[in-house]
Amino acid sequence: MAATYDIVLNQEANVSSKYSVLASEYREASIHQVFNYPQQVWSQRQHPLNLRNGKNWLAIDITNTGDQDANFYIVVNNTMQLHSVKLYERGYGNTIKITPLTRHYNSLSSAHFRLSAKVTSRVFLTVTADGDATIQLNTLSPNQFVESLSLSQYITGIAIGGMFALALVMLMLFAANGSKSLVILFGYFTIQALSLSVLLGFNLYSVFPETPEFRGFELPLLTSFSAVFLIWFTRELFNLRLLAKRLDKVLKIIGWLLFLYLPLSMLLSLNTNLIICKLIDVVSACVLITVGLQLVRKNQRLALLFTIVILLALIFKLLNIVTISWYGFSTDLNTISFWLHGFLITFILSRQYYYQKLDSERAQKESLESAMTTRQAQDELLVLQQETQEQLELRVQERTLELNIALQELEDANRELAEKNTLDDLTGLFNRRHYDQKLLAEFRRSRRNLTPLSIVVIDIDLFKGVNDTYGHVAGDKCLVIIARLIKSVLRRSTDVGCRYGGEEFCLILPETDKDGATAIAEELRLAVKDQAFKLSNTGTTIALSVSCGISTYQQQNEISPEDLFVVADKALYQAKNQGRDQVVFFDLNMLKAEQE
Ligand code: GH3
Ligand code: MG
Ligand code: MG
Repeated sequence: MAATYDIVLNQEANVSSKYSVLASEYREASIHQVFNYPQQVWSQRQHPLNLRNGKNWLAIDITNTGDQDANFYIVVNNTMQLHSVKLYERGYGNTIKITPLTRHYNSLSSAHFRLSAKVTSRVFLTVTADGDATIQLNTLSPNQFVESLSLSQYITGIAIGGMFALALVMLMLFAANGSKSLVILFGYFTIQALSLSVLLGFNLYSVFPETPEFRGFELPLLTSFSAVFLIWFTRELFNLRLLAKRLDKVLKIIGWLLFLYLPLSMLLSLNTNLIICKLIDVVSACVLITVGLQLVRKNQRLALLFTIVILLALIFKLLNIVTISWYGFSTDLNTISFWLHGFLITFILSRQYYYQKLDSERAQKESLESAMTTRQAQDELLVLQQETQEQLELRVQERTLELNIALQELEDANRELAEKNTLDDLTGLFNRRHYDQKLLAEFRRSRRNLTPLSIVVIDIDLFKGVNDTYGHVAGDKCLVIIARLIKSVLRRSTDVGCRYGGEEFCLILPETDKDGATAIAEELRLAVKDQAFKLSNTGTTIALSVSCGISTYQQQNEISPEDLFVVADKALYQAKNQGRDQVVFFDLNMLKAEQE
């Protein structure tokens, strides 16, 4: 092992290289012309070498100061932008040996070269580039070459594999909790892993070296999708659809524009696509930083962290552009920036989960508190309701009582009123109105029950004289006394005594025939006769008498209640005519006889 190391060291020590580039005006020259150009048209260059779009002629002056023949490799990086690299060396005689460089999976192309001891030789390279490219050109010993190839493949393997693993972890987590952000990050990290593998040399062109159309073919797709996924993740992370509708719309439009670029990219040259991809990377990062700053201003949590992460990614990209060609052999920078970015995005996601957990805990606590408050309020309401209910019931009871009393009073008042309506004020007997109703009712009852009905019409004799002599007040007193006498002779509850009008009275006697009625009338007549009508102020006694007319209904045909009265009145008239102070009965049939 140590021996090999020594040999490498020796070889390295013995071989030195100088690099020159042919002035651009001679670039179309043939190999024979180039071999013979003087030194003035060449300019010596240091690394990295800047190439023009199209064909570039390079010369390498290699010196072997050692005593042995030296084996070494000429190694060129950034094969993606180079579609042809050929080595020219003088063969035996005047022949020229042309060796195309072999392409490797990690963006390197190499050609083996052998140099005799103590010899300086000049070899030429034609490098045809798409656009202005920056390359590294090295002369390495076999051991150095193998070492650098395997080291870069090792780093590349770990970096790409790790990124794929990260994507896979996101997919697993998505399967576990179904969050949309996770599936977006799965997509994003998958694209990142693919991008990294393309940048580190494992791309379509390296798989199909015979198809130069594949050079950089996947770059527009990966760059667009990477930007689209990051934009999508941002929208989900901050819930922009609800939080900032305008920003969300702008991001959506940018996403669609990126999709539009995909078919367009097929028509553009690799160089143009490389520039557009760099622009997409830088512009999308700038847009997301602007969005982030807006959200920081709105005090949105995670916004500051997010902005810093995207800013870091942007700085790395700019660094890449400024230092070496972006898609050049910058394995370390690319790997570090990709991984840092991946970790930071994952960190943002974990912070988001942390905050969501806090939120849900706080929400739970709040809902518990609010449930307790509600419960308390409900209890208080219940107590209040019960109190109100009791008060209400009490009030209703009070009001009902008051109402019942009022109703009772009203009923009493009504009854009183009704009584007043049927009674005569002066005498307390029933009045004329009641007489009319009662007579009709009793008449019908008598007709229905086939019972006799008698009425007695009473008129005070010569009463005008009493009024004229003693005055109306005295007359009224006499009326009151006669009414009392009428009440005293009516013993049946069904008998009714009425004041017919003035000093005339009428008795309605149901189930009473001629004889019964006559007996009552006679009793009254005698009672009046016996009564001493004393005047309290003068002590004078007035003698009064009454005349009575009687008629009795015993279901005679075509007789009305009025007829009954008319006949009794006629009998009264007869009593007056016969000298007053007597009782006269008239048969109802006399009415028929009169009519005939
Ligand atoms: P007679 O009936 O016997 O023929 O003679 P009279 O004087 O009673 O005649 P009439 O029946 O026609 O007279 C009725 C008188 O009764 C007239 C009036 O002075 C008196 N009178 C009627 N109503 C009242 C009353 O309410 N109060 C008083 N004080 N007198 C009355
Ligand atoms: Mg009269
Ligand atoms: Mg009279």
